[in-house]
Amino acid sequence: MLEFSLDWSTEGIVSRRERYFAASQRAFVPYRTPTIFKRGEMQYLWDEKGRKYLDLLGMNVCISVGHAHPKVTRAVEEQMRQLQHCTTMFYHPVPAHFAEELAARMPKGHDWVVHFTNSGSEAVDLALVMAQHATGNIDMIALRNGYHGPTIGAQSLTGIAGFRHNMPLLGGIHHVANPDRYRGAFGDDVQGYLNEVDAVIRHSTPAKLAGFIAEPIHGYGGIVECLPGYLKAVAEKVRAHGGIMIIDEVQSGFGRTGDNFWAFEAHDIVPEIVVMAKGIGNGFPLGAVVAQRHIAEKLAGKFTFHTYGASPTSCAAGRAVLKVIDEEQTQANSRKMGALLHKVFARLHQKHEIVGDVRNHGLMLAIELVKDRKTKEPAPEIAADIFEKTRDNGLVMSKSGANRNILRMVPPMCIEEKDVATVEESLERCFAGY
Ligand code: PMP
Repeated sequence: MLEFSLDWSTEGIVSRRERYFAASQRAFVPYRTPTIFKRGEMQYLWDEKGRKYLDLLGMNVCISVGHAHPKVTRAVEEQMRQLQHCTTMFYHPVPAHFAEELAARMPKGHDWVVHFTNSGSEAVDLALVMAQHATGNIDMIALRNGYHGPTIGAQSLTGIAGFRHNMPLLGGIHHVANPDRYRGAFGDDVQGYLNEVDAVIRHSTPAKLAGFIAEPIHGYGGIVECLPGYLKAVAEKVRAHGGIMIIDEVQSGFGRTGDNFWAFEAHDIVPEIVVMAKGIGNGFPLGAVVAQRHIAEKLAGKFTFHTYGASPTSCAAGRAVLKVIDEEQTQANSRKMGALLHKVFARLHQKHEIVGDVRNHGLMLAIELVKDRKTKEPAPEIAADIFEKTRDNGLVMSKSGANRNILRMVPPMCIEEKDVATVEESLERCFAGY
């Protein structure tokens, strides 16, 4: 066996990270003191001292079916032993099967094709390239509060200042008010948001569009679902101006919402392009653009090559994830566990003034903290204090939203009823006194 030295001491890890990680990679630190994870099994994590946690974050929605899920691990191990990597210029059955299986998950009656990438932001960038080539137009509309990734294209589409760098991002991208029932500019008035889309098309674009991109449920933005009817009406407007719909399912896909396999299906639309990543590989680096053939075909004349796109090892993980989703009925479990957790959150909302809003769709969940329920002034400091307590009480979640006042939970879809009881007991302790 190969021996590498491995220093698990907090001091050793912190000092190496501080010394050798670039500032851009060091900056994303959730808690006031470091958390070091050593092992994961399904919905649980253990730190280096052997303390157990319930993982309500799934390593940022990547762990869709469970840490070290035996079927995913076996599929990956078997592929690794055969052929770890195979560039897309050669043929291999694993990505080919996986493309077929993903296409089969899309709405029927359309001709879907797949381009595998390494990550979500690469998939978003490629979707943007496809939209512009397929339509011959340049302008895109995106939502304020949306997150699409750190690459230049994805960052330009992102509508949260904290994720945008002070540099010339792409032109022709226009952000419109996000249709947010709780905090949106027009409350729950869908027509208000649609009027804004009309105004932006009329005043800020050449009245020709490449497309519109949205997460059906904002993830990093704090679990905010587009109001019913909005995406369907937007799709009509966008298509009337020559554009296409791109739906970002990086966080919301793969049955997590419980009602549907894709979150967009609750909105009665069929997009031309769907981008996905994270949960698709249960932690393996993998993303995909799934597009209708007539859109994707426009790129036939050029090389678009992602070195690790269509990696047989990542795709083996992806195939196993789809199998587990079916065999273990994780979508139905997401619906059931989401409903139970919602009841827990509703009780917190009743009991604690600090809780301004609770919301979920299946296992995309949020508790939003405010200083005053009427003014909805965000409470980021208290959110930070409660967030620290959640870890001390054995829960892993994230602090999200442009105001950093939202506790966001997107657990592995295998969580069980006994975990819901743990969440309730732990959160009661964390919220005591607020
Ligand atoms: N879209 C959404 C909705 C995301 O949440 C993310 C990642 N958090 C991305 C795109 C970008 O994915 P990646 O980090 O894999 O590039």
